Amino acid sequence: MSYKVTIIPGDGIGKEVSLAARRCIDATGVKIIWDEQIAGKEAIVKFGTVLPRQVLESIRKNKIAIKGPITTPVGKGFRSVNVQLRISLDLYACLRPCKLYKGVKTRYENLDLVVVRENTEDLYAGIEFAEGQVKTKEMIEYIEKMSGAGIRQDSAIGIKPISITASRRIVKFAFDFAVKNNRKKVTAVHKANIMKETDGLFLKVAREVAQEYSGKIEFEDRIVDNMCMQLVQKPELYDVMVLPNLYGDILSDLCSGLAGGLGIAPGANIGDDMALFEPIHGSAPKYTGLNKVNPAAMILSGVLMLRHMGEADAADRLEKAIAQVMEEGKYVTYDLKPDRNDPSAVGTSQMADAVIARLRSN
Ligand code: NAD
Repeated sequence: MSYKVTIIPGDGIGKEVSLAARRCIDATGVKIIWDEQIAGKEAIVKFGTVLPRQVLESIRKNKIAIKGPITTPVGKGFRSVNVQLRISLDLYACLRPCKLYKGVKTRYENLDLVVVRENTEDLYAGIEFAEGQVKTKEMIEYIEKMSGAGIRQDSAIGIKPISITASRRIVKFAFDFAVKNNRKKVTAVHKANIMKETDGLFLKVAREVAQEYSGKIEFEDRIVDNMCMQLVQKPELYDVMVLPNLYGDILSDLCSGLAGGLGIAPGANIGDDMALFEPIHGSAPKYTGLNKVNPAAMILSGVLMLRHMGEADAADRLEKAIAQVMEEGKYVTYDLKPDRNDPSAVGTSQMADAVIARLRSN
C-alpha cells in the first residue's frame, strides 16, 4: 500500500529540514508518493500568489500534508500562509507535544506536556483595521456608540472572535486526545478575569465539555499569566492544556523551551478529515542554506504524521532512532551540543543520515 502526501518544503531553513524529514520518513519503509507544492514568497514569483489554489487542492485530495516553515513579513506585506492554510482547510486543532528526550539540554527532569491550541479564530482571525483609514474611524465611532468605551482616534483595531462552536470542538478534541492517549488531566487556559465575554465564553464551554468526561479525565483551569509562571516552576503538574489561538501560540513556544528548544518541537494541525504536520519553529532566515539547524522538530512532525496515518510501528521506529541519535549526542547539530560552538556538531543532513543509519541498524 502507498500513500500520497502533500509536501510543502517552505522557505528559509524549511527546505533543508523538509528534505531531512522526507528522507527519514522514506527510510521507515512506508511507501509515500510525495506531491510537492510551493507556497510563500517563492510562489508569488511563480504563480502570483503566496498560496496557490493547487496547494489547497492537493491537501484536500491527499488529506495528509507536511510542511516546512514559511516566512511571514513582520508588520507589513502578506498575511501568514501558515494561518491561511489552517483557516482555509479548517484545521482547527493544533497539537504540540513537548516531552523530554535524553541528551537534550533542559532544566527539568520530569515534563510531558501537550499543548492543544485552537487554530481558527481569536486574534488570529485576521480581522484588523489599519490606523488612519476611514473605515477604521467608522469602526471606532461604532464601537464607542455600542459599548460606551472611549477609543483613541489614532488607534488600529483588531477583532477577537471566540465562538461556542470553535471552543466546544477544540476542548472536545483535547479531552478525546487525553482519553485516547491515557492522559490524566486537561487544563483550560484563559484570561477570563479580564476578557469576561470572549475568554469567559471559552471557559464556560470548557467547563461544560469537561462534565461529559467527568470521572474519566480530570479538569481544571488556569489564568494564562499564572500558567506561564506555573509551567516554569512546576511543569510536572501539567498534562494536556487547551487554549485559544494566541495563548496557544505563545505557550507552545514556552513549553518547547522547557523541553529543550524549538529544534526538537513538532506540531500538527488537524481537522475533521485532513491534517497538516509542521514543526513549531519558523524559517530562521539567518541560518538559511547553511546546513546547520536541527532537523529533529521536522522529523518528529513526521513521526506525528505516521502515527496519524495509522503507521504506528514506523512512527515508533523513527522516534526511537531520533531519540537514540540525540541521546548519543555525537551526530547532532550545534543546538544539541553542550557548547553551541562545539566544532564536532554536524549539519542538518548529516544528523538525518545518522537517524537513517539507526533506523537501518535497529
Ligand atoms: P524561528 O523559529 O524561525 O527562529 C528563532 C530562533 O530559534 C532561530 O534564530 C534559532 O536560533 C532557533 N531555531 C529555530 N528553529 C531551529 C532549528 N530547527 N534548529 C535550531 N535552532 C532553531 O522564529 P522567528 O525568527 O521569530 O521567525 C522567522 C520567520 O518564521 C518569521 O517570518 C515567522 O513569521 C516565520 N514563522 C513561520 C512558522 C511556520 O511556518 N509555521 C512558525 C513560526 C514562525
